[in-house]
Amino acid sequence: MAECSLANGTRGSKTPPTKDGVTAAELFLEEGLTYNDFLILPGYIDFAADDVDLTSKLTRRISLKAPLVSSPMDTVTESSMAIVMALCGGIGIIHHNCTPEFQSNEVRKVKKYEQGFILDPVVMGPDNTVADVFSAKARNGFSGIPITENGQMGGKLLGIVTARDIDFLSREQYKVKLNEVMTPRELLTVASSGIKLKEANDMLQKSKKGKLPIVNEKDELVSLISRTDLKKHREFPLASKDEHKQLLVGAAIGTREDDKDRLDMLVNAGVDVVVLDSSQGNSIYQINLIKYIKQKYSDLQVVGGNVVTTSQAKTLIAAGVDALRVGMGSGSICITQEVMAVGRPQGTAVYNVAAFAREAGVPVIADGGVSSVGHITKALALGASTVMMGSLLAGTTEAPGEYFFSDGVRLKKYRGMGSLDAMETNKSSASRYFSESDKLKVAQGVSGSIVDKGSIHKFVPYLIAGIQHGCQDIGARSTEVLRDMMYDGKLRFEKRTVSAQVEGGVHSLHS
Ligand code: IMP
Repeated sequence: MAECSLANGTRGSKTPPTKDGVTAAELFLEEGLTYNDFLILPGYIDFAADDVDLTSKLTRRISLKAPLVSSPMDTVTESSMAIVMALCGGIGIIHHNCTPEFQSNEVRKVKKYEQGFILDPVVMGPDNTVADVFSAKARNGFSGIPITENGQMGGKLLGIVTARDIDFLSREQYKVKLNEVMTPRELLTVASSGIKLKEANDMLQKSKKGKLPIVNEKDELVSLISRTDLKKHREFPLASKDEHKQLLVGAAIGTREDDKDRLDMLVNAGVDVVVLDSSQGNSIYQINLIKYIKQKYSDLQVVGGNVVTTSQAKTLIAAGVDALRVGMGSGSICITQEVMAVGRPQGTAVYNVAAFAREAGVPVIADGGVSSVGHITKALALGASTVMMGSLLAGTTEAPGEYFFSDGVRLKKYRGMGSLDAMETNKSSASRYFSESDKLKVAQGVSGSIVDKGSIHKFVPYLIAGIQHGCQDIGARSTEVLRDMMYDGKLRFEKRTVSAQVEGGVHSLHS
């Protein structure tokens, strides 16, 4: 150690050894670590947080402006979640714990989404009653309901029931059928499909109506425009879109023979990326399916996984995947590590697989174990290109399922796809965790509930701003710079003890 001369003139004393953290390679040399086990040391700031560019690759060919992916779980991602995720710059992966028809229809809803046009409004038939409208109003908080011949979207439009038609009815009249109270088709202002939002807006303004049904040439209802939605019209500069300006969407499939039919339906519906949904992806079934898909649909992006080791990654990369989903046992509802004795702490898994896959140009999705925005920034700093979330997005307005109250708290269900609960609903879920021949199901997940978090319209922008602020503190202007800093050894990490973790959380408050 060189001798130094200090400002106060002391000569001859030695500078004590100091060290600002370690590189990622040094951090992950030994035991497995997860996000809470380490911190990133701050760097130098010479730019605003807003200027941080979060553009990241989801797959070899798809880039997102926000590195956020919603998990293919039946309590997280159907079309409502996928639409808002894509509007906010991320992407949603539609779950497959449902029939192929249902899943491909959810994909179609995202692909056909046009801002302001409601593709799946509550619709009723002429034989529904006034009471049905009131209960729909209690559930969904609105009352402009189109009436079609078959009570569904796509049926011939017969009329519309609004608050004005039913507000003054007495209790005895709740049994009255809707064809007796609705405003009939001939009195409605309707627009033809293909109309632009601006024209629809003008029609609504002129007619002074609350709802504008859109019909096709056979007078069948194809969508609906609502005045209140138009008033909320917003810009989405980050929206994830394909070359036809349609929102991007993904879908999960299993690796059984009949998943090939599901795949065909999803491709017909316009899916942009399929995620092969296995908890242990390094299998002959997945490798064969990757090759099959690449041969049949060479343009379709395929995500393989899940993997946590470089040797697992190696076989899937060789088979031709366009991205890898990384995580085994890190999910908040997951008991895989306890039951199967296999898995890997998520930080170590992400670092190792991402470093390996980078050589082949294959992006990594860090999947599971994210319980705060800081965990997302850490996953990106370890080399992940995007981050997949379940629990963080569950309990939001856009997550499937109804809210319920327990002890005065408003909740939504959240369950592991390997929970007994989910596996009993549909056999697709069981396929992620078992082979078809398994006679006895061993759960790898649990089922629970999550508090109401409001809409992801607000939550995802918060996550984006949080990541940008983290990158600013680190001194990384973009996720690409963040990764380069990590691989160059400029990004410094430090392990934290259990007491350092306590110190890093909220503590010592009286209330
Ligand atoms: P979370 O964001 O920590 O809640 O984790 C979500 C991730 O957990 C999903 O994307 C899946 O990879 C994984 N997962 C979902 N269901 C199960 C399960 O039942 N057992 C184990 N892992 C699961």
